[in-house]
Amino acid sequence: MLMHVINMEHDVFKANDKIAEKNRKKLDKYQVFSVNVMGAIGSGKTTLIEEAIKQLKEKYKITVIAGDVIAEMDSSRFRKLGVPTIPVNTGKECHLDAKLVEKALNEVDLENTDLLFIENVGNLICPVDFKLGEHLRVVIVSVTEGDDIILKHPMIFKTAELAIINKVDIAHAVDVNAEKMREDILSLNPDVPVILTSKHDWESLETWIGFIELGLKKNAQ
Ligand code: MG
Ligand code: ZN
Repeated sequence: MLMHVINMEHDVFKANDKIAEKNRKKLDKYQVFSVNVMGAIGSGKTTLIEEAIKQLKEKYKITVIAGDVIAEMDSSRFRKLGVPTIPVNTGKECHLDAKLVEKALNEVDLENTDLLFIENVGNLICPVDFKLGEHLRVVIVSVTEGDDIILKHPMIFKTAELAIINKVDIAHAVDVNAEKMREDILSLNPDVPVILTSKHDWESLETWIGFIELGLKKNAQ
């Protein structure tokens, strides 16, 4: 699944980038700010998106595209919060690509969306290569993945525009140093903002949500 035939790879990415550009144009036309949320299974993608929805849904119209091998599970969590959600079942595919998002966008009420979350498939490798047309690329990593996880997956951290180290409240229990994780991320991508979060620490969630809101405001200018 993760293996791509090398000489076909270039064409595949080029075709994907073209569709991603189309997606971006469409999103810009309707002034939708879109966030591609990447990270491994269990890193907390769904939870952090849920927290942002709870805080922002009175102020902004939010829609979610939920990609997963079985997308219905996360979709129902988002729907419970009252936001329109489009599940994208990727089946055997371990990433979303621009074409899948293009299709999903046909089902999004773009005129009634200010903020679009795109939850990518739980995987730290191939989502890197597939631009979706998003405005912000976020990678979430949990301390439970171990503090060598970052240097083992450099590309996703090099290309991220926001990096989140999640579940820092249990770092000690799993014998991981969250500060070392932050340093590893900055060694790969010195300019990327890094946020340490825990769903039990309201202030940390506010930092994440504030970042999204800042992007929304910039996009509206
Ligand atoms: Mg999820
Ligand atoms: Zn993949």
